[in-house]
Amino acid sequence: ADGLLCYCRAGFEPELAAELTERAALAGLPGHARAERGDGLALFLGDGAALARALPWRELIFARQKLQLIAHLRGMDPSDRITPIVQVLRGLPDGSAAFGELLVEHPDSDAGKPLAGLARSFGNALRPALRKAGLLAAQDDPRHPRLHLCFTAGDTAFLARSDPRDSAPWPLGIPRLKLHADAPSRSALKLEEALLVLLDERERGALLRPGMRAADLGAAPGGWTWVLARHGLQVTAIDNGPLRPHVFDSGRVEHLRADGFGWQPARALDWMVCDMVEQPRRVAARMAQWFAQGWCRQAVFNLKLPMKKRWAETRLCLDLFATQAQRPLAIRARQLFHDREEITVYAGVDGP
Ligand code: SAM
Repeated sequence: ADGLLCYCRAGFEPELAAELTERAALAGLPGHARAERGDGLALFLGDGAALARALPWRELIFARQKLQLIAHLRGMDPSDRITPIVQVLRGLPDGSAAFGELLVEHPDSDAGKPLAGLARSFGNALRPALRKAGLLAAQDDPRHPRLHLCFTAGDTAFLARSDPRDSAPWPLGIPRLKLHADAPSRSALKLEEALLVLLDERERGALLRPGMRAADLGAAPGGWTWVLARHGLQVTAIDNGPLRPHVFDSGRVEHLRADGFGWQPARALDWMVCDMVEQPRRVAARMAQWFAQGWCRQAVFNLKLPMKKRWAETRLCLDLFATQAQRPLAIRARQLFHDREEITVYAGVDGP
């Protein structure tokens, strides 16, 4: 087996497959996608090394994780799954078998979730065996590729590798964030995840500074506004609905009952965030207008995707946004773990 193995939200396999197919074609790389709805993953079979180079993880929208396939292990004997794994790894070309970390995983799907216990206990058995065989570093070492074993059944698993600089650092590609007891809504986690996943540490430090000014379009009950205020930003929250009262405790929040599609700031802001539930094309066009008019320098917004052709709609909306913004922007989009039928977009002037 050669190619890519990517994880995604269950139900979004066709979107991930379409994305991989289109991006590989644009890079001039042959191959074909294999995906079943509900599996929580998709394969793209082809030249894995070339595909991994041409499709950076940060640029993929529907992939929570991007791995390079090593082998598809089928019909493993439950009393000894270790031997065939060691055999495959020993057979790898010289020098490519020194892994820095082992992650034993399962798809985030109905069929995959019950395999969590097996993944945990088998990882505890496999780790020392691989160390003894000289295939795994004695301690986690990010200078070497990670080894992933992804169980899809008790006797079936994918063996794959990832480059720590070009993949998600979290098991299953899922950042585990805890909802703060004071958060006004679960949506707060979405913006926190967006800031964690779409910006790196240096960017977060440089772009989110106390005293900066932000607008939150479609702010009620106040989760995103609360996250921004906790970073020390001054927030104008736009929504006809009410915010939870404690959102105002910081003294940095102002609430305006207005239409998020009509309101504009009196002077340019640092940030605009938008979680309005509306047709994605309409949202994308309004977001572009903010940048075209210079009303903000950075934005995070959601595009809801309740329709059938979600990959086509994603492409259309992102193209429309990039064109109508009428200026060079860094644009990153991703279906976050906390996103259901939607994706989250970051855009910034002059690239962070
Ligand atoms: N981000 C919020 C949070 O973290 O608590 C949740 C936002 S909720 C998903 C969507 C909000 O958008 C609703 O409160 C709704 O009233 C608001 N909304 C929808 N259309 C709007 C519009 N045209 N103008 C202003 N607000 C709008």
